[in-house]
Amino acid sequence: MINLDDNEIKNLISIDTFNDTSLFAVSVVELPKYEVLYVNQAMKNIMSDMTAHNCWEAIHGQEAPCMWCKAPMLLANLKQNIHHSQSTMDNAYAVYEHFNEVANKWYQVQEKVITLEDSRDVLISFALDISLQKDAQSKLIDTHVKLTKQTKALEEAQKKLKEQANRDPLTNMHNRRYFSEISEKIISITKRSKDPLSLIMIDIDNFKKINDTYGHNVGDEVIKLLANELASTIRQSDVAARFGGEEFAIILPNTDATNAFIFADKLRENIENISYKDKKDTIKFTVSIGVDEFNHENDNNVSASLNRADKALYEAKTTGKNKVLIFKH
Ligand code: GH3
Ligand code: MG
Ligand code: MG
Repeated sequence: MINLDDNEIKNLISIDTFNDTSLFAVSVVELPKYEVLYVNQAMKNIMSDMTAHNCWEAIHGQEAPCMWCKAPMLLANLKQNIHHSQSTMDNAYAVYEHFNEVANKWYQVQEKVITLEDSRDVLISFALDISLQKDAQSKLIDTHVKLTKQTKALEEAQKKLKEQANRDPLTNMHNRRYFSEISEKIISITKRSKDPLSLIMIDIDNFKKINDTYGHNVGDEVIKLLANELASTIRQSDVAARFGGEEFAIILPNTDATNAFIFADKLRENIENISYKDKKDTIKFTVSIGVDEFNHENDNNVSASLNRADKALYEAKTTGKNKVLIFKH
């Protein structure tokens, strides 16, 4: 296959440079016969069949021209360029990465088709082993994928943590901090539209007695039961929160004092009718509720209205409990 007397080819690929110590695997193939004219030592090391004449058999161990072969395209480009302009040869080059199944390695291949003085067209190929780089690249991708997954998990954990900071651990209801934050947002929205907005404060009646009689754990269960009742009663636009102990608050957008009272009294009545069932005891309880309508003209923040709801609640406590009172302006 190899004709070392072919001086033009020897000159062409600078045999002195691409000798047997070259890192590049070099081949020269005559087209369109695909006959191998020259290979250097590096190419011999990875060849499939040294006795074969066709490059697809000799170099790649294929039974027919390789599917990925760039020679036809390069040859066509060369002919076109010769036809149109002698000088532009750029698209007669091909640079691509290829996995050589014989050598089990990745190569970066640079190829060019040229016409020899005797008018033979030859494909000159230089192939550089880039397996190490490919390996490093795929490890980098693996690391990137792992890192992306870790970042996602971290973001989710942070989101969960942030969510937990807004919630009360016993009932999983929103806490006072979140309630204040969201209330200010709701107020700033309704301030422009002047839509009515009410706040209610709820406190379990004689809760100390429940703790004293049945124990703190039962007290906790009663608080949870009330929390569930509140969560299932409020509308989607309302926000309920546990302020601490057996004290809760609800903000009711688009609700005036009269409607807030109707809502609160229904809630009070519902609570009167539920009970916590222990192994041996059935525990019933009641709540007192204070209602206040936010005043868009005079109130700058939620706490003024909350204080008034609290005052109404206190009055409900001192005038018999298990009742709802609206703060009288
Ligand atoms: P009132 O009708 O006037 O509201 O009387 P009360 O007995 O409910 O009195 P108060 O609101 O002052 O008492 C609340 C009690 O709730 C005091 C405290 O020991 C108890 N407590 C506070 N936090 C918790 C809790 O997380 N779990 C339980 N089980 N008890 C709590
Ligand atoms: Mg109480
Ligand atoms: Mg209390």
